[in-house]
Amino acid sequence: MATAPKALFCPTCRKVVLAECEDFPFCSDRCRILDLGKWASGDYKISSPILDPEVLEGLDQGMPHRRRDEED
Ligand SMILES: [Zn+2]
Repeated sequence: MATAPKALFCPTCRKVVLAECEDFPFCSDRCRILDLGKWASGDYKISSPILDPEVLEGLDQGMPHRRRDEED
């Protein structure tokens, strides 16, 4: 089982967000909605190549979100 981060920077406003925050990884519901809006409107342009082997594997399988093969 991977170790979950205890805190992250809010992707929208870069504020530190603790993992126990209910809107984690966003600092607030507002920031989450803003971020989703950016993705939806195509504002985010990913220009760098993906080098993460886990992500590449997920793309290969066409199911990037399906990584829970084993359940405790
Ligand atoms: Zn924020």
